[in-house]
Amino acid sequence: MSAGELGHLVMVKNGEKCNCGARGCLETLASAKAIEKQAQRMVKQAPQSLLFHLAKGVPNRINLEMIAQAAKEQDPLAVSLFVQAAEWIGLAVAGMINILNPDIIMLGGRVVRTAEEIIMTKVRTVAKENALPALFEMVTFVQPKLGPLSGAMGAIAAVKQRLGDAYPGYAVNP
Ligand SMILES: [Zn+2]
Repeated sequence: MSAGELGHLVMVKNGEKCNCGARGCLETLASAKAIEKQAQRMVKQAPQSLLFHLAKGVPNRINLEMIAQAAKEQDPLAVSLFVQAAEWIGLAVAGMINILNPDIIMLGGRVVRTAEEIIMTKVRTVAKENALPALFEMVTFVQPKLGPLSGAMGAIAAVKQRLGDAYPGYAVNP
């Protein structure tokens, strides 16, 4: 099984340094670690936020689960962190749809599992806005139940389902 590293697709010119050596990769924008880092940085400017309250005023305590809890209770900071991450993922997904014309887009991984509703809704919307309409219409979004995509590694995968050319490749690790 071949998996491309969509997580290292560069989304932002001169963006944040990624551990792969490049800058502005999808991973620096939408991985669990990236979202946690953004939250820890931004919460300092939002001492009134529920997130700050949940972290008991200690930004370094903030983890993805805490952000998800705050987002569920409509904390604007937490919601915006997930929305922004989902927008980046949605753009990457739109690119995958346009290039690969897949039948299935599989979204898994820690970020999606932790904040499924808010992430999936936004990813779909942004993908629809940015992919070629005829190709977007052919795509079904699914969540991996089992297999490598449900594991800690996490993934977005585009799957071509037609007989003979099934490939689970192009994984990303949000
Ligand atoms: Zn990278």
